[in-house]
Amino acid sequence: MKALRKVQAAKGLQMDTVAVPSIGPTDVLVRVKTASICGTDLHIYGWDRWSQGRIKPPVTLGHEFCGTVERVGDEVRAVKPGDFVSAEMHVNCGHCHQCRLGQAHICQNLRIIGIDQDGAFAEFVKIPATNIWKLDAAIPEHYGAILDPLGNAVHTVLAGPVAGQTVLVTGCGPIGLMAIAVAKACGSSTVFATETNEKRRAMAKKMGAEVVLNPAAEDAVGKILAETNGTGVDALLEMSGNPTAIQQGFKALRAGGRASLLGIPTENVPLDLVNDVIFKGATVQGIYGRRMYETWVQMTALLKAGRLNLEPLFGWTNSKAPSHCFRADLRERSCCIRTACRAERIDLSALRSKCLLTAASWRKIVLPPAKSTLGAPLCPRPQPCHRNRTLCSTLPTN
Ligand code: NAD
Ligand code: ZN
Repeated sequence: MKALRKVQAAKGLQMDTVAVPSIGPTDVLVRVKTASICGTDLHIYGWDRWSQGRIKPPVTLGHEFCGTVERVGDEVRAVKPGDFVSAEMHVNCGHCHQCRLGQAHICQNLRIIGIDQDGAFAEFVKIPATNIWKLDAAIPEHYGAILDPLGNAVHTVLAGPVAGQTVLVTGCGPIGLMAIAVAKACGSSTVFATETNEKRRAMAKKMGAEVVLNPAAEDAVGKILAETNGTGVDALLEMSGNPTAIQQGFKALRAGGRASLLGIPTENVPLDLVNDVIFKGATVQGIYGRRMYETWVQMTALLKAGRLNLEPLFGWTNSKAPSHCFRADLRERSCCIRTACRAERIDLSALRSKCLLTAASWRKIVLPPAKSTLGAPLCPRPQPCHRNRTLCSTLPTN
């Protein structure tokens, strides 16, 4: 099968041909239908310091996906071939102290499929049956590949009270944007959002934030305090990892509030612990991954109830999303993922976006080099490109 892999300890990725994974008695083999690119994949592509310390090539990337069950091991009863599934890609050991305490998401021996072992940017991926999440038919199919980041958002929002509460989301990347929708769905009274990027601020409004501020151009903390009668917000949901955003978030938090920190700073962040945490009596929580499987249950319930409109996060407006080519506008630039006959070297360098890759056939998936095609009208909405081959000239004929 074809697989998008890190084959060398250097920048780049390669489309490789590898064996279909063999499965054990408690494993499930999934035929990948759609996968989504996480910021982490871009770090691995770029081979930054974190990747160099963590990734052991060769490894197939990809940890946000959905697909259909192809085969199950002898002991698997929960799913059967043909079931439409996604999966929790953090695999816990089941034996360590935290696992025994029901805190599997912070297992001491956590391994991540798509980072520590072969992942879902391939035609098939092997998943332990315990980690498979069967998708309810009521959940829109294209949401199936973004449950991993949505789970991050749900975990963060629901890590404390939210109904009737004022909430500040700092950083409106894909996860921050999802958090806005989740906070509104769960009854937050007012959602404040800070974001330095103009397009993402516009998205934050679409997702339901009432007050959207640009901390680079205005006194965001002052405005939040003014809007809350000088009290500050009940909850800070930190989704940027940016030191300034984190510091401002704590300044805007009310005494007795909770700070749930998901964003990952790349450096140590100085904090005024005395005034912003201790004297405030603030509750500070680190948020990692998704609770297994409380977050998945909550996320499914919200989606099934139709409480989360994530459509603004997807680039298409046509409900009949083209099967092999569409746009995703989650970050500043749209990008077009298309199939092509030859797929050897992959250029992810300009893909600063969380994009969906549809994989009717992974053998033909290639990410286009950014300069020549990103933003180019290859698959103009609302007309799906597979009906317009003159525009999508590199599409395969089979
Ligand atoms: P992202 O990088 O797309 O989003 C971060 C956003 O923060 C960007 O839109 C950026 O413009 C904005 N930002 C930067 N500086 C800011 C400032 N001073 N004020 C306000 N906004 C600012 O990332 P994402 O994919 O949405 O993920 C969000 C964060 O969560 C990242 O730091 C990511 O590494 C982290 N993450 C953590 C976990 C976890 O389990 N803890 C899981 C996934 C991602
Ligand atoms: Zn464990």
